[in-house]
Amino acid sequence: MTGLDKTVLVVVDHSGGALTAPSAEVLTLARTLTDGAVAAVALTPEPDLAALGRYGAQEVYVPGLGGLSADVAAVAAEAVLAVVERTDPAAVLLVSGFAGKERAARLAVALASGAVVDATGVEVTDDGTLAVAKTVLQGTWATTCAVTRGLPIIAVKPTSVEAVADDDAATPAVVDVPVDLSSAARAVRVVSRTEHPRGRAPLSEAKAVVVGGRGVEGDFSLVEELAEEIGAAVGATRVATDEGWIDHSAQIGQTGVTIAPRLYIGAGVSGAIHHTAGMQAAEVVVAINNDPEAPIFEMADLGIVGDVTEVLPQAIAELRRLKG
Ligand SMILES: Cc1cc2nc3c(=O)[nH]c(=O)nc-3n(C[C@H](O)[C@H](O)[C@H](O)COP(=O)(O)OP(=O)(O)OC[C@H]3O[C@@H](n4cnc5c(N)ncnc54)[C@H](O)[C@@H]3O)c2cc1C
Repeated sequence: MTGLDKTVLVVVDHSGGALTAPSAEVLTLARTLTDGAVAAVALTPEPDLAALGRYGAQEVYVPGLGGLSADVAAVAAEAVLAVVERTDPAAVLLVSGFAGKERAARLAVALASGAVVDATGVEVTDDGTLAVAKTVLQGTWATTCAVTRGLPIIAVKPTSVEAVADDDAATPAVVDVPVDLSSAARAVRVVSRTEHPRGRAPLSEAKAVVVGGRGVEGDFSLVEELAEEIGAAVGATRVATDEGWIDHSAQIGQTGVTIAPRLYIGAGVSGAIHHTAGMQAAEVVVAINNDPEAPIFEMADLGIVGDVTEVLPQAIAELRRLKG
């Protein structure tokens, strides 16, 4: 397999002035696809150049947004479009979050090309097309697809790829790109923006997730404690969110968030299809349930038959002991 011979553009995100972990992952993936350059599109006037260079961006394009916010999808998409027109890349990669998916769709419409979102992997085939892996139908099918017309636009799910720094990294060159934003893009202004304080990675980006179900009987404290010990995010089943034991944003499943962490720990979760639809792509599944017949054990790599109020404290104590 040889790589693409043109630049791969990666639309990167920043949080609190720093490159986000999912953006570092997508830059890492981009390096495996091209023999040409990896270039980043930063939708912030002050990109995190050190991190962008570390993960392989050789050039960083900074579109001029004229004071408008890239939170407005039309602004972001037109800004990326201006960079695409200037660089004629082989592909555009984005992070498959809410914003990335909408930007991907808008770009595809503007360029009359195809977009694949929720990708879990991308490879260059022998004939030079990009083969994109993604799961469909609630995680029950693994598919490989390709964009058959125009510039491939691919949004990659967080945690699908391990971010690896580039040993030969240099500080990337910064290229300012003027953008002539349309009146439609200018029609919306963000008047205020409040980032939710969070000490942990957001659920969809977390490498480890501890999930509480009906079996925790309303008490998420042990789930929280275990998550804290291993630096995991906290998730829940719909029963737990419907009961009001935890916020709805923590719900994983068909009508909640889809996750693909390296480690999923389910505590008092039965493994109903509506829930597993959102976590099927987890690499390692650990289940704690007092019913040995619970369906979740069928997909568990490690199953513990026991009461969450007994198993979780033991796990937490052992982790603390190991950490000294
Ligand atoms: C259209 C639709 C959409 C849905 N979308 C979602 C969704 O997005 N996400 C979602 O999660 N659900 C969703 N559901 C609901 C889903 O079908 C299940 O009802 C739900 O996932 C079950 O949650 P649970 O595993 O917490 O509860 P249960 O199925 O009641 O399982 C609780 C488990 O805990 C175990 N347990 C009980 N006490 C203990 C204890 N002390 N220690 C250890 N184990 C214990 C039990 O053995 C049991 O296996 C949806 C349903 C519908 C109809």
